[in-house]
Amino acid sequence: MSYLFPTYQRFDVKVKSASGTKLTDENGQKYLDFISGIAVCNLGHRHPAVQEAVEQQLKQVWHVSNLFHVSVQEEVAELLVQHSCGDAVFFCNSGAEANEAAIKLARKYTKRHKIITFKKSFHGRTFATMSATGQAKIHEGFGPLLQEFVYVPYNDIEAVKKEMDETTAAVMLEIVQGEGGVVPAEAEFLEGVQQLCQENGSLFIVDEVQTGIGRTGKPFAYQHYSLSPDITTVAKGLGSGLPIGALIGKNHLKEAFGPGSHGSTFGGNPIALAAAKATLTVIFQEAFLKEVEQKAAYFMKELQTKLSSIPFITDIRGKGFLIGIECAEKQGELIGKMREKGLLVLGAGPSVIRLLPPLTVTMEEMNTALTIIENVCCHEKISL
Ligand SMILES: *Cc1c(COP(=O)(O)O)cnc(C)c1O
Repeated sequence: MSYLFPTYQRFDVKVKSASGTKLTDENGQKYLDFISGIAVCNLGHRHPAVQEAVEQQLKQVWHVSNLFHVSVQEEVAELLVQHSCGDAVFFCNSGAEANEAAIKLARKYTKRHKIITFKKSFHGRTFATMSATGQAKIHEGFGPLLQEFVYVPYNDIEAVKKEMDETTAAVMLEIVQGEGGVVPAEAEFLEGVQQLCQENGSLFIVDEVQTGIGRTGKPFAYQHYSLSPDITTVAKGLGSGLPIGALIGKNHLKEAFGPGSHGSTFGGNPIALAAAKATLTVIFQEAFLKEVEQKAAYFMKELQTKLSSIPFITDIRGKGFLIGIECAEKQGELIGKMREKGLLVLGAGPSVIRLLPPLTVTMEEMNTALTIIENVCCHEKISL
């Protein structure tokens, strides 16, 4: 008996405590967490710098609303702007809200309506972001959707070209489709989309809710390419587990989001922002990100070596620590078996096992995870 709406399919695990990459459940069973709260706890659980910042903020002020200046908003906005191509930040509470703001801003700024997004994309669960999401199963039963969203095949620049016209407000995409199955975009495709947007006066919106905040080894995943999006959205990793989202936009967009145009009661909450400031201060250090890139490259190479001869594994792909293992069969069964062996991983789409270790994962933890993955995939037994 549960008093909750049954909106989620849940693992049979009740977490009691968490630290770094490790979770302990109510029975004392320990797990290596390669889910990180779905790309949220990028610094692992309860990182001391974030814990300290939140505790300090709790002793000062919790909430005053955006009727007031909140200096920690300015500090986090400055960090985001310094490490991106953007100039101004709007704070909200989630990924969907950040994308919702992006869609509203794009329509208001361009005075156009059509938004091009991609098949198998995921942008959120509000009406606009659900409508932007190119997956029928997310729409089921909720229609009619918001109008003038069109979905074209990902990595298909010709399809974008065909839909691009004088009514197109924006193209919105993920650099790696996360929920859709860990599908990375090709460089020529991304740069082609950006160019089409520029030629057509449409905004180029990059949804970095999953890929941002160091997940791929750069502050933002678009920085692996020659890209300078008009709008970038972030959320998941930004607050290390406290709810926060943000839209980062170029200067010319400021006029369209003037006083009274858009807002949020909780957006920019001082406690969430204190967590974000501490998080970014650690993650945006060059040496930290260099190490993430090196560890992720090692992990990917080992996965490919260890799993290359397993017939039902058809592809291993990703960027940085957003990794997908495509299985011709048994996705759910393998995820369950890895959990039994003490490694938490999740699915992405119907056939992909997704790995999202914290960026702070150690070599030893990676090696333990590799052993579990290899053994489960080879149907062998080991004990942690
Ligand atoms: C998770 C996710 C969202 C939605 O974020 P919420 O915080 O759940 O609203 C949007 N876009 C992408 C790419 C995501 O991975």
